[in-house]
Amino acid sequence: MDPEEFQRLLDIDVEDVASIPSDNESYASDFDANGEELDENFQHNNDLKPIPSILITFHVYLCAKGLHHSSVKMKTLKILVFVLNSISLLSKVYGSDPAIEEEEARARAFLKILNEKTWTRNNKGTIAAWNYASNITDYNLKEQIRVSAEIAKEVKEDWKELTKFNYNTFIDYDLRRQFKKYSILGKAALPDDKYVKLEKIVSDMESAYATAKICSYHNKTDCSLSLEPEITKILTSSRDPEELKHVWVEWRKKTKTVKPLFIDYVKYSNEAARLNNFTSNTEYWLYDYESPTFVDEIEKLWRQLKPLYLQLHAYVRHKLRQRYGEVVSEKGPIPAHLLGNMWAQTWGHVADFTLPYPKVKGPNYSNLLAKQEYTPIKMFQEAERFFVSLNLTEMPPLFWKNSILEKPKDGRDLVCHASAWDFYDQKDFRIKQCTDVTFEDFITAHHEMGHIQYYLQYKSQPVAYREGANDGFHEAVGDVMALSVATSKHLKKIGLIDSEPANKDQNDINELYQMGLDKIAFLPFAYLMDLWRWQVFDGKITPEEYNCKWWDYRYNIQGIEPPVDRSELDFDPASKYHIVADVPYLRYFISYVIQFQFHRAACEIAGEYDPNDLTKPLHKCDIYQNTKAGNAIGKMLQMGSSRPWREAMEALTGQQNMDASGLLEYFRPLYKWLETENQKNNVYIGWKICEKKCTKVPLQ
Ligand SMILES: [Zn+2]
Repeated sequence: MDPEEFQRLLDIDVEDVASIPSDNESYASDFDANGEELDENFQHNNDLKPIPSILITFHVYLCAKGLHHSSVKMKTLKILVFVLNSISLLSKVYGSDPAIEEEEARARAFLKILNEKTWTRNNKGTIAAWNYASNITDYNLKEQIRVSAEIAKEVKEDWKELTKFNYNTFIDYDLRRQFKKYSILGKAALPDDKYVKLEKIVSDMESAYATAKICSYHNKTDCSLSLEPEITKILTSSRDPEELKHVWVEWRKKTKTVKPLFIDYVKYSNEAARLNNFTSNTEYWLYDYESPTFVDEIEKLWRQLKPLYLQLHAYVRHKLRQRYGEVVSEKGPIPAHLLGNMWAQTWGHVADFTLPYPKVKGPNYSNLLAKQEYTPIKMFQEAERFFVSLNLTEMPPLFWKNSILEKPKDGRDLVCHASAWDFYDQKDFRIKQCTDVTFEDFITAHHEMGHIQYYLQYKSQPVAYREGANDGFHEAVGDVMALSVATSKHLKKIGLIDSEPANKDQNDINELYQMGLDKIAFLPFAYLMDLWRWQVFDGKITPEEYNCKWWDYRYNIQGIEPPVDRSELDFDPASKYHIVADVPYLRYFISYVIQFQFHRAACEIAGEYDPNDLTKPLHKCDIYQNTKAGNAIGKMLQMGSSRPWREAMEALTGQQNMDASGLLEYFRPLYKWLETENQKNNVYIGWKICEKKCTKVPLQ
């Protein structure tokens, strides 16, 4: 198996997403505006045994891998061999080193066998992971542990052989690239005892998180509140600032206990990274982006986006102040407990009292779905119709046979967090989603199917390339579809609504605003999550300053403040799932930016968006039934990770760089509205003076 893939398998990759605490969705990540996933939704069902991170393997990204099968596989290999031979012939003509050629020939033979082993192992591992996730029993857990351990051992053996090749000197690009992908072993590079220790640390942190419970604000003797669903419900619906503060503070009291574990986690992660020839875990996390300037590029994107965020921030603070009075200062950061989400990462749950035009009510799409007798299957069929209308691929028969599209009624325990799975045999692809007939889940269905579509498009690639061009791409695909699906133009086309809503302009602003509460508000959070961790891995933030530096980022980038003073006795980063579960977060920032870039490119191709035509704004574009747009998307997806992500991006957008102007263009009407509204109300833009302190030296 591809060591790199394997490494990912080892991480529980629950994709996150931002927001709406629906309890389904997961892989998908993100969609937030309507449904999304959140990691934290990742089933913290307490009956569920803490899942050792080695287990979950093929989750999320895992999803992103594939496999091969008989006839197709042979054909692929033959073509590949032919191409490789042609390249080596060419190099002969131009005179290359016979020793290298000979080694390349051996390497080719080795790779052929390794690819075969890899997809077979991935298939086996994925089946075991699926069995457990879809039916949580002791037996399935044991099986999964057994299979994972077996695979880990085999992978390491193969990796030892692979690293004997001098692959950096290979002239054949594909050979060199695949070897490089296989050469990163990740944590498994650690000596066995340390490897097991690190796995255990992460799994202990996760289980501490998963089992944390707090007491109720109203009934102090009831201490059974879990993050899902009770605490999340309070955060999304309570409007009592004292109750909100209580759950915010208590959750952090319970989750901060992992700090000693986290310190060890940082140590071993860095050690593993160094064994893979990286200077630190930061470099390892950034490796797949294949760009020495990537961090600068991300920072540049954030600078591009910041003016939009500032307007939204200022408007929401003003509205919160109207609601909560002096709890919210006029020019300061926003208190983190009032934004409807445990981490203030998405703000959709304050929409009800902050809506730009509260009297303009759009249609209730969930009610309409129910009225038209949609079922979970019908929702997925409708999603498939969308992909097929773009000339993309229909779901294979095994998808319909093996997927779990609604919660089984046989009483079994399962991980309900929505997820999309690639079984690596080119035939078997599944979604597991406890779908309810709601509009959020309808959007999520498209999002999840975006992952499956990506798997299908790159399934003929060598196994090392069966992943997104980078990890942000995989998340973005389904969201691109969802941006079209959520337009009233599209919903009319599929008969969900008869006519576009009245008060169109005002309704538009309301809808863009709701989308912005999730997609714009999420950006600084998604950015700072790894900004903080990069500094931690690089030793620039030491354990003595973990918490206060965390709050520096929260203040400086997000403009929020804790509801009460903090100190280094607290460890607030641990209140977030991805931090304790060792899941990098930058992918979500990337996805949220590039999905609009992809959307704009597809819409331009479809003739649905024209920057010079006011009747065709980007936020109203629907690419449904446009095969030209679909073909361009397909071209990008088919590449998998066979080439650096810039080339994949270029295939669809003509651009080699990430660019936030798609997002800015999409939200332009909202930006203008917010700017005018903020000026009218004389609202301060930005923030100053944080009244809450973080004490570096713990108080006596
Ligand atoms: Zn996803």
